Amino acid sequence: MKIRNSFAVTILGNASAVPTANRNLTSQLVQYGTNRFLVDCGEGTQLQMIKYRVKQTNLNHIFISHLHGDHFYGLFGLISTFHLFGRTKPLAIFAPQALKDLLDHVLQVSNTTLRFELNFHNLEDFGDKPVYENDHFKITCFPVVHRIPTWGFKFEEKHGIRKINKAFLAEYAPDIATIKAIKAGDGYKAPNGKVYSHNEITEAPLNPRSYVYCADTAYDTSLAPYLFGADLVYHEATFDDSMEALAIEKFHATARHAALQARQAQVKKLLLGHFSARHTSLEGLLEEARSVFENTLISEEGIRYPVE
Ligand SMILES: [Zn+2]
Repeated sequence: MKIRNSFAVTILGNASAVPTANRNLTSQLVQYGTNRFLVDCGEGTQLQMIKYRVKQTNLNHIFISHLHGDHFYGLFGLISTFHLFGRTKPLAIFAPQALKDLLDHVLQVSNTTLRFELNFHNLEDFGDKPVYENDHFKITCFPVVHRIPTWGFKFEEKHGIRKINKAFLAEYAPDIATIKAIKAGDGYKAPNGKVYSHNEITEAPLNPRSYVYCADTAYDTSLAPYLFGADLVYHEATFDDSMEALAIEKFHATARHAALQARQAQVKKLLLGHFSARHTSLEGLLEEARSVFENTLISEEGIRYPVE
């Protein structure tokens, strides 16, 4: 069996605009292997992290989709806690540029000199280029349709290279230079003269997986290419269909809008979130979405959803 890196998203908050007794403001943790990324940081996020045992360890990247308060007011408290706990590792923040001025101002008026480096990245600077990447994984941002500039984020595995067969490695124990050559596409000639083709000694890579966070957005078919074929998509469903006019006016989506988007983009699974406080029960939203796109779930705080 092939072992894959774990890839999952844990919901820390799925309320829109204002919190309720059982729904916190937007935040979620995306985890890929040992890498962990916080997406949005509404007020109360650090409490949710404690409640759901999300450790601060290895949390070095925070992405803020836009500057409405329900998506970033928790950042100041979280940074303060990092500082008080003696963090020394740099922290990278990816957000609209105006947040940099706010952060600088807050630190200045509270006379705080952070013990760690705060590296700010303006989302407008990236275009199609990844905002983050390593050998196996990359994150890109894309504009969604809201009242102020807002970005969604796509988390995806890179196309894998063929893996060298374990039985082959055990039998011939090739040196590093040979392994590199095989990874680059070479075959292998064994000491006994036997010749192996590249495909004989390697295995096909698994299909790369992807997760898309759509942030706050109106229903707009222009987003479909960014979502296309994703294994899991988190899409806002602030309102139900009876409030479609309000959704359009506020640049938000209904559950049906989210489902139409998922169907059009041929995604595998849809996770609804960003629920208006007026929806005490979410059953209606789920039913509405499932009538258009069957593989829909209502996101629940503290639940870890695998990307598979
Ligand atoms: Zn919001």
